[in-house]
Amino acid sequence: MKSSLRVATVAGIDIKLHFSFVLVLGLGAWPWLVWGARGALFGAGMALAIFACIALHELGHSLVARLYGIPVTDITLTPIGGVAILRDRPKTPTQELLIALAGPAVNVVLAALFAGVGLLLEGPGGLEAAGRTLMREAPQAEHIWVLLVSANVMLAAFNMLPALPMDGGRVLRATLSYVFEPERATRIAAVVARVVAALFIAVWALVPNMSPMLPLIALVVFFGAGAEVREAKVNRVLSMIRAGDVATPYAPRFEPGTTLGQALQTLMVSPLPVFAVELGGRLVGVVRREDVLQAAMSKGAWGFVSAVMVREVPTVDPFDTLDDARSKMQRGEVRAAAVMRGGVFLGVITELELAQAMEVAEQLKSVQRRDSLGREVP
Ligand SMILES: [Zn+2]
Repeated sequence: MKSSLRVATVAGIDIKLHFSFVLVLGLGAWPWLVWGARGALFGAGMALAIFACIALHELGHSLVARLYGIPVTDITLTPIGGVAILRDRPKTPTQELLIALAGPAVNVVLAALFAGVGLLLEGPGGLEAAGRTLMREAPQAEHIWVLLVSANVMLAAFNMLPALPMDGGRVLRATLSYVFEPERATRIAAVVARVVAALFIAVWALVPNMSPMLPLIALVVFFGAGAEVREAKVNRVLSMIRAGDVATPYAPRFEPGTTLGQALQTLMVSPLPVFAVELGGRLVGVVRREDVLQAAMSKGAWGFVSAVMVREVPTVDPFDTLDDARSKMQRGEVRAAAVMRGGVFLGVITELELAQAMEVAEQLKSVQRRDSLGREVP
């Protein structure tokens, strides 16, 4: 689980390095190794600097997302780039468009900034000469500026390729969403993304000395685009179902004084991932299945449910959609939402209810595709 290391916290957002990040230092040092230890150090330092630019790119996405009220969990840097984890998705095409553009925009600003500093320190002649002799002579100070400018230009350009889930793909999907409904827009963007992924592979196979990162990124794009399509479909189906239709009053519930032993018995007969904790008909919190199991192991059967109960539970109205409920669940500490009407607690929605609703909706769709004799209707 703990596969990454926190290196900084900016504006309340943790920036983490994935353990595989050590590869980056090696890959950065490699081309400069011909100039010995000094070259290797220079290369590794440049790799670190470039990844700092990638972290700033992700911060660009994150801060605009937060501006729209979307919580950001953290930013993780891996050898193939950075990922900012947003706890919710953008609500409008404009939000998605601006969040996606914010990352590459940071790199454009950085490129201009480094070009300006380089020009001031080295003069136009110095920078041009450094660009020409780059990698052919021992590393020098001018190389730093040339490398940082070209890295940021490349980062902006590469990320703007229309390959969902990359930034350019999100820009494309957001733009299409002004015309088409979200799922349709995602499907079109995913087709474009897969064409771009195929081009990556073709370029890598045909052009000598292309980076082995290219087919790797092609794979990430290929499967990432598929995941976006599935997600868009889930969003559409869940937005057609109301929270009140799936929150059942018959789900097993606990009281704060329920012992862990009693709770374990309930766990054995109910597959729910989260249970409501009630007192006198009032919801006082929820408890996670895994927390009950863990507490029963450490405290024994005589501990109480109240010890592992989470009091903060997002609430939804019975007439809200399951899509709204899911959105709130993702923002909360526990993946559950309480359905409340006029202060009365009606039931809890968990991942299980969402999965069941999806399954039923899918079945209904396949039933609709058959005629009264059970034959497939084209
Ligand atoms: Zn980005």
